[in-house]
Amino acid sequence: MHARSAHRSLLVIGSVALDDIDGPSGMKRDLLGGSASFIARAASYFTKNVSVVAVIGADFDQKHVDELAACGVDVSGIVREPGETFHWVGKYSDDLTSRETLDTRLGVFATFAPKLSAAQSGAQIVMLGNIDPALQLDVLRQLEKPALVAADTMNLWINIKRAELVAMLGKIHTIMINDEEARLLTGEHNLARAAKGVLALGPSSVIIKRGDAGALLFNADGAFAAPAMPLSDVVDPTGAGDSFAGGLMGYLAYAGDLSPKTIRTAMIVGSVMGSFAVEKFSVDGLRDLDGAKVQARFDAMAELVRFDKLAL
Ligand code: AMP
Repeated sequence: MHARSAHRSLLVIGSVALDDIDGPSGMKRDLLGGSASFIARAASYFTKNVSVVAVIGADFDQKHVDELAACGVDVSGIVREPGETFHWVGKYSDDLTSRETLDTRLGVFATFAPKLSAAQSGAQIVMLGNIDPALQLDVLRQLEKPALVAADTMNLWINIKRAELVAMLGKIHTIMINDEEARLLTGEHNLARAAKGVLALGPSSVIIKRGDAGALLFNADGAFAAPAMPLSDVVDPTGAGDSFAGGLMGYLAYAGDLSPKTIRTAMIVGSVMGSFAVEKFSVDGLRDLDGAKVQARFDAMAELVRFDKLAL
């Protein structure tokens, strides 16, 4: 079961989007975005066994799909429907520490019914990117016997689809949310208490993402902290959480086991991929990476938190 030999398949469900991002350097329009775009691209550095289920509209440039395919990702589950691609408009504060959603146009997502192929139904590792929890539930119903299902969500769904979200939480292993979402979901300000509150809803692990303060994993083994890389040039935080998820899940698929030790390494890999994503707009920070660049940043991250045991 936990043999290192077999790499596992990773199935990614999420949004493929066009984003308008308003930030300190002005407004950028129609950038490639969406949870699945970041997750699959980040994961593709660790395993070539990634497939995506998503929907795009008539306006979506095929070159983005082709590029993902060139990364070795199976894009046969990205279906094109008549209508507009999912469109998200976000505005960041000048210091990039907070953002608000100015507009969300569901477009083809409004009528999307994810349909898994036989191979996708048998996926061992599944990442349900941030989309309507009703669609996440749809996907869960089509899975056979996955070893690990993780999901992401956001404040929008906590506010307007809480029942579906809670039903989804009862059926997955790991939920990844940011600190504000954990507080909103549980009504607890303290993060350790919020984590307990989330775990009480069903998942066996919760990962709380805290932007440039890193990420915390809580489960029966206790807590584990992954730092965020202290970067001097952050351009666009969009997709940091999804790239974190892609790195983490991609590494787990590559490693082929789900031991606590491997999961700790995967948390750091996630943080590494998140750090690359924020250095450029859209998925550009995830372009042109290679094993050596990922390894170098992983080593820098390890150095950041390396210390000796206290010997009084
Ligand atoms: P992150 O910065 O990792 O939280 O993810 C940002 C991405 O989430 C953007 O590229 C958006 O296109 C996507 N996104 C924003 N709102 C939604 C939503 N309601 N459903 C699905 N994806 C969304």
